[in-house]
Amino acid sequence: MKNYYDVLGLSRDASQEEVRKAYRKLAHKYHPDKGGDENKFKEISEAYRVLSDKKKRAQYDQYGQVFGDAGGGGGANQWQAGFGFDPFGAASGGENPFGSFDGIEDIFEQFFSGTGRRGRPRDPNRGRNIEVNVYIGLEDALQGVEREISLSKLVTCQRCQGSGAEPGTKSKECFTCRGKGQVKEVRRFLGYSFTNYVVCPTCKGDGKIPEKPCNVCKGEGRVTAEEKIRIAIPAGIDNNQILEVPGKGEAGRRGGKPGNLYIRVFLRPHKRFRRKGDDLYGEISIPFSKACLGGRVDVSILEGKKISLKIPAGTKPGKLFKINGKGIPRFSRLGRGDLYLKVNLEIPEKLTKAEKELLNKLKDAGF
Ligand SMILES: [Zn+2]
Ligand SMILES: [Zn+2]
Repeated sequence: MKNYYDVLGLSRDASQEEVRKAYRKLAHKYHPDKGGDENKFKEISEAYRVLSDKKKRAQYDQYGQVFGDAGGGGGANQWQAGFGFDPFGAASGGENPFGSFDGIEDIFEQFFSGTGRRGRPRDPNRGRNIEVNVYIGLEDALQGVEREISLSKLVTCQRCQGSGAEPGTKSKECFTCRGKGQVKEVRRFLGYSFTNYVVCPTCKGDGKIPEKPCNVCKGEGRVTAEEKIRIAIPAGIDNNQILEVPGKGEAGRRGGKPGNLYIRVFLRPHKRFRRKGDDLYGEISIPFSKACLGGRVDVSILEGKKISLKIPAGTKPGKLFKINGKGIPRFSRLGRGDLYLKVNLEIPEKLTKAEKELLNKLKDAGF
């Protein structure tokens, strides 16, 4: 896949205005109606569609791709429909992590909270995001696979239901901030005073503290525990792709919003097939006689089945056969990539006397 910035001839920090200008200029130049290159035009349009959209651009910048985006329409749910069980259903209340950008927005907010470019300050009670690595085989990328992962993380305290207060007791106004949730911080620099409001260190912005902190969580509303989470890895997933499970990160403090869980998927190398995009590459070995005379060979493909491949007479080593639709399913789109098989010649190391005689006859005949 081409870099969208390169396609539009822009640098990574190009403004929205520059994105629009570059697109207009190039679209004009390559428009098929004006005799331009159609593929080039598609590339430009695709790059513009992503970079002109703030959310998509932020995703693209972070992950190098846009999740659930399949040419602008309807693609987001396709893999879910064909998957057979409900991925993330139980974990996230049925939310499709690829269709919803809630979590991505969170990342965005956190990213900008420090610079003050976005108005809303980061919620100090929000739970942290968790990232885990999951390793799967290339075969698993064919069908999709379910994995159960075990996380040691902060979960909501059962005793106080996350409130931080001992059951039956109330909360009282925070004495540090007098209920405001923030305190004034004055800094002096070169004779000037700078006043800043910061989140109250005692109540972390709540404005109130438990009258009697919960015995189990000591008023935090969360405790460390082991949690098992079942994750569904969709078919077509590629190496280094990240899946998002909203709300499955660490529990928030005193009932705050939970963080998200990010699953980075790694594909283990396969001993026979190499993946390139949605296509697979492998090799087959055929005897010299079959290469000359033609015939059929049985080839086992990634799903374990065998297919019969026709070898035309006069096939040379290095020839590449293309088998349509036997590659990896396209992620969040329909269809599969293709399988390419390169021909090798089988050369026997040991020969029987009879074989030697036959080969000698061939040699005499000029082979
Ligand atoms: Zn508690
Ligand atoms: Zn306070």
